[in-house]
Amino acid sequence: MDASRLWALTLIRVASLSPSPVSSYRGRLAPSPTGYLHVGHARTFWTASQRARDAGGALVMRMEDLDPDRSRSSYAEAAIEDLRWLGIRWHEGPDKGGPFAPYAQSRRGAHYLAAWSKLRRRGFLYPCRCSRKDLETALGAPHERVTAARQDAQSPGKLDLLGLLDEDPVYPGTCRGFQGHALQLPGLTAGDIEIPQGFNWRFRVQDGEAVEFEDRNLGPQRFVAGLDFGDFVVLRRDGAPSYQLACVTDDAAMGITEVVRGADLLKSTARQILLNRALGFKNPSWFHCRLVVDHNGRRLAKRHDSLSLRALRQRGLTPMNILSAELPVEA
Ligand SMILES: [Zn+2]
Repeated sequence: MDASRLWALTLIRVASLSPSPVSSYRGRLAPSPTGYLHVGHARTFWTASQRARDAGGALVMRMEDLDPDRSRSSYAEAAIEDLRWLGIRWHEGPDKGGPFAPYAQSRRGAHYLAAWSKLRRRGFLYPCRCSRKDLETALGAPHERVTAARQDAQSPGKLDLLGLLDEDPVYPGTCRGFQGHALQLPGLTAGDIEIPQGFNWRFRVQDGEAVEFEDRNLGPQRFVAGLDFGDFVVLRRDGAPSYQLACVTDDAAMGITEVVRGADLLKSTARQILLNRALGFKNPSWFHCRLVVDHNGRRLAKRHDSLSLRALRQRGLTPMNILSAELPVEA
């Protein structure tokens, strides 16, 4: 079968995306508008849309535009346009509205603050006053860590292909001593604690606890708290929620039943399971997609401009070429 015929068939499948979902499945597409989408995003989002379609479920588009320094509305518009060009359709989103609006994280601050407050009241958080410099001193210079991570990735297990590389170092626990006694922090008053700004709020993990889950694509996964990841930030000192907090809060609020995303987020899933438990949220199912790597075996990032959907489209590639791995050699 030639490519154009295959693509025509694919379009018929897209057209069959149920206008009103017939099952309780709810999936999502969650692009971050910090650059143009590339081939890796295209495949992951395509998989998400096919799984929602096959389940007769709903697909939600959520714009993860929390990073004020790197997010651009032009990238958000480009992401929507590129996904439409690929043939992906969704039922709810920033461009369409829906019962769980708003669908842009930059407009959902009250939800994250409510989640922070709940975690704080339940005793899961402590304020961390470490500066970036403090952490670097405690952990060793950043270039040493990156070198170690690269050596890891080049080991025979080919970790990077699965995307297990997660360079967020394990927090050394400097401020942990203040757990549950936040008011004893020198210079702090009760009022300071009620206002989240000014500290990085960390979620305290139980060292040695194994977090296990069954991935619908990659099989059984296991990560150990305190070893694979440490106490992680849920709210930054500037008041912005972390990816982990925003993600679980929105997935729960929007009733998401399956999360399809890149395998670089496997360890994030372990953290999010702990957050879901602490917040009383039901875990969704997970389907992590293997990452697309370039010709040097490095995983694609937004810096690979020559592999952005925009650039490939300008070079005359069709959605079919992109989704079927007919990648051009990187320019
Ligand atoms: Zn600290």
